[in-house]
Amino acid sequence: MAFIFDVMPTGVAIKGSEQRFPVRRIYCVGRNYLEHIHEMKEGDERDRPFFFQKPTDAIVAQGAVVPYPPFTDDFQFEAELVIAIGAQAKNVLVGQALDAVYGYAAGVDLTRRDRQRESFREGKPWEVGKSFDHSAVVGVISPAAEHGHALKGAITLELNGEQRQHGRLEQMIWNPAEIIAQLSQQYVLHPGDLIMTGTPAGVGPLAPGDRVQVFIDGLGPLQFSIGPEE
Ligand code: MN
Repeated sequence: MAFIFDVMPTGVAIKGSEQRFPVRRIYCVGRNYLEHIHEMKEGDERDRPFFFQKPTDAIVAQGAVVPYPPFTDDFQFEAELVIAIGAQAKNVLVGQALDAVYGYAAGVDLTRRDRQRESFREGKPWEVGKSFDHSAVVGVISPAAEHGHALKGAITLELNGEQRQHGRLEQMIWNPAEIIAQLSQQYVLHPGDLIMTGTPAGVGPLAPGDRVQVFIDGLGPLQFSIGPEE
C-alpha cells in the first residue's frame, strides 16, 4: 500500500546490535515509589497504579540535546526504568508477565511540573504536563535474554555531575511483572511497546545547559543535555 508521504518511524538503540527496537506506544506508570508520592503530596500508596501515555515520536535518544520546551516555567526530570515489550500480552498473570519483556533501558520522564500540578488541581487530563514533544528520553535497551531482568539494583540520576535522585528498583510499589499484568488488563500490549515505570524521590527542575545522567545497575548509562528553547 502506498502512503501519500513518509512519517519518520521511531526507534531505540539495542546493546550489541546494529538493529533498532521499533517503538509502538509509550505507557507510563503514574506513581510507583513511596518517597516520590510523599514529595508530590498527591495520591496514596494504596492506590492501584494508573497509566498515561506519551506520543511515540516524543522519544529522545541517548546523547541527544533536548530543547527546553515551551509552555512551562518548571521543566523537571524523573529517572525511570523502562521496560521494552517484545511479545503480545493480554490479561497475563503476574507469573507469566516477564515472558513478554524484550529488555530494559534507563529513561527519563520529562515533565512540565507546573502544567501537571494545574491538571491535578483542576481535574484535567495530563497530556499538557506529560505528553509534549521530546518528553521521553530512553537509553540503549539491554535485551533480557542476554542481560537478565532488571528487577533489583540502584537507580540514580545526576544533574551536572551531582546526585539528585537515588533509589532502588526493589522500592517500586508495583514491580515490572505486576505493572505488565495490570496494564495488560487495560490494553493489549504488543511488541514495540515501552513502559516507563515511575520515579524515585528527588525530582527537580532543569535549565538550558544542564547535563543529565541516569545509572541503573546492570544497564547502560543514559546521558543527555538540555538546549535552549526551540
Ligand atoms: Mn514519571
